Amino acid sequence: MHYKDTILANGEKHDYYELLGVHRNASEVEIKKAFRKLALQYHPDKNPGDKSAEDKFKEITEAYEVLSDAQKRTQYDQFGHAGVSGAGFSGGGFGGFGAGTPFGDIFSDIFGDIFGGGGGGRSRTQGRRGDDLLYNMEISFEEAAFGIEKKIEVPFAKRCVTCNGTGSKPGTDPKVCPTCRGAGQVRYQQGFFSVSKTCGQCNGEGKIVDNPCPDCRGKGSTKSSKTLSVKVPGGVETGSRLKMTGEGGLGKGGPNGDLYVAISVKEHPLFQREDTNVICEFPLSFVQASLGCEIEVPTLDGKVSMKIPEGTQSGKVYRLKGKGIPSLQGYGRGDQLVIVRVETPSNLNKKQKELLEEFAKISGEDVHPMKKGFLNKVMDFLS
Ligand SMILES: [Zn+2]
Ligand SMILES: [Zn+2]
Repeated sequence: MHYKDTILANGEKHDYYELLGVHRNASEVEIKKAFRKLALQYHPDKNPGDKSAEDKFKEITEAYEVLSDAQKRTQYDQFGHAGVSGAGFSGGGFGGFGAGTPFGDIFSDIFGDIFGGGGGGRSRTQGRRGDDLLYNMEISFEEAAFGIEKKIEVPFAKRCVTCNGTGSKPGTDPKVCPTCRGAGQVRYQQGFFSVSKTCGQCNGEGKIVDNPCPDCRGKGSTKSSKTLSVKVPGGVETGSRLKMTGEGGLGKGGPNGDLYVAISVKEHPLFQREDTNVICEFPLSFVQASLGCEIEVPTLDGKVSMKIPEGTQSGKVYRLKGKGIPSLQGYGRGDQLVIVRVETPSNLNKKQKELLEEFAKISGEDVHPMKKGFLNKVMDFLS
């Protein structure tokens, strides 16, 4: 599986549309047709021992898996290979495809039983899928709003070159596990049922390494790390997860695991978020609220000037259209909601207190309609 290592190491891939020889706006039917033709031409069973045909077959299969899935295709159109990174790339053999995947129908269509449930001409063990990895990424409020591309360093098990991933010293072969006779699974009886579980002696691999490879100590892989570029789309929030297919742990005869990037968004000193809306509380003095004023409100796009009419009450919400968070689905943006908080002055000096008392003396209840209404209700209630 040297080919796979190359792909993961340098990230270079051919354009999926070019691989299938279709236009970027090709229909589903055209894509299926193009794949069908190429798949028949390059299928390993038709080209025994031809490594380049096998590689080509894998490439077109991968391209088809992405382009035949509307969601993956959109991601690919938008983000390129990073958007669907490693998607569907199956490791050793072609074990992973069966009913229930997009390949179920087309393969049984083309190749009959080859990919179907066990009826194929060659026997393969399923192989073990690599582990899924979780990477926690913390980003700023603004980065979550507008998206960001970040490089992350992730652990990466590199297939050992010396033993080509088998774990056996070159020139020796692993022996078939005596417990499960190579099946990787053992059956036992539980009540009326026959249950199968992973073989404990070989950990489900069906093989046991007698002469371990000196370079990887029999593991078949060596620890390394790789830098991945993660494109975080605008609109993500804490709890959002980005899946990078095939970027997880190395599979053993099965596909690689996936890498999940879990997003957590740092708190912002000014803004809070509610769906795609940005909430911002703006304090006003009671004088500003009484007389009206013009304020400069911070938004994700910079300052916006806003008129506060006279007699504005605390808690009043103003809406700045389109100043919120872009929607993750890519349709428009939310709004910014500015909540006015009228602040009661404190720590007043003598002069200020006198002025306020003077103000109270010359102001009847007419300037406080809310208070007047409330006092009337209290009187009714108590009488
Ligand atoms: Zn090795
Ligand atoms: Zn075993």
